[in-house]
Amino acid sequence: ATPIAVMVATGRGAQLGIFLKGYQALDSSRLVDTVVFDKTGTVTQGVLRVGAVHTVEGFTDDEVLYLAAAVENASEHSVGAAIVAATDGRDLEPVDDFRVEPGRGVSGVVDGRTVSVGSPRWTSRAAVVPATVARRCKELEAEGKTVVFVIVDDAIAGLIAVADLVKQSAAPSIAALQAAGLRTVLLTGDNEGAARTVAAEVGIDEVHFEMLPDQKVERLRRLQADGRSVAMVGDGINDGPALATADLGLAIGRGTDVAISAADIILVRDDLRSVPAALSLATATQRTIR
Ligand code: ADP
Ligand code: MG
Repeated sequence: ATPIAVMVATGRGAQLGIFLKGYQALDSSRLVDTVVFDKTGTVTQGVLRVGAVHTVEGFTDDEVLYLAAAVENASEHSVGAAIVAATDGRDLEPVDDFRVEPGRGVSGVVDGRTVSVGSPRWTSRAAVVPATVARRCKELEAEGKTVVFVIVDDAIAGLIAVADLVKQSAAPSIAALQAAGLRTVLLTGDNEGAARTVAAEVGIDEVHFEMLPDQKVERLRRLQADGRSVAMVGDGINDGPALATADLGLAIGRGTDVAISAADIILVRDDLRSVPAALSLATATQRTIR
């Protein structure tokens, strides 16, 4: 792209809330044939709410919720925010030894007890899952909910189900990309039920679930090895490596700093219709130059 064409595209982009970080943005977007979306906070609003709590004998719903919230209070994950919000501001115990396992969950010590909150896959490695918990988990996941297990001192104390809403701009954005001949893919660390529910709601072509951050990167590399030119749209802390690996990285503006610094294009508006708009802006710019 010539400097003039880049200037023009930059100006038009700014009006549309599309911030191009450099030449790379224009040169790669022309070729993109596949758009990969992160789920939570990108296709969905990322404002989760606690829908159900289920506990084993010896624990009340409130105990499990407040122990989980005490740990999640130190987390910046949207699942954690939902759990803290569900406690209605009652004072939470302080947490010691707080740890984050990206794509898996969090742990810490609350009032002398070791508490972990995380994906069923991750937490069930450390504790036996009671049959009632396993059954309730399957039911809730089939409904499209995200389920996390709460472990207290090496035993499962219960589960918490959270749910999110898709952005209104998601379906029209996917439809516009498909109309332009692009393939759409959903990548998520969440469970199969939640992933498929969201994909069906917005019309995404291909779904990959229970992906750890490095598996997301691996999946992008595999698409590229298949000859695809891939754009990745994300917002989260975990999305930095994927945004950097993609041929073109697009970060949602109110996303994390990590996502914003790894991306080629920043979408200032929290509106997914900016994705097809950004790609066609770049294509139009290339056409005027050639
Ligand atoms: P996504 O790909 O949807 O953005 P992540 O990769 O961030 O999801 O997380 C994947 C899964 O790991 C979540 O669905 C949840 O089960 C678990 N998880 C991650 N962070 C947390 C947390 N702070 N508290 C509880 N569970 C978590
Ligand atoms: Mg995310």
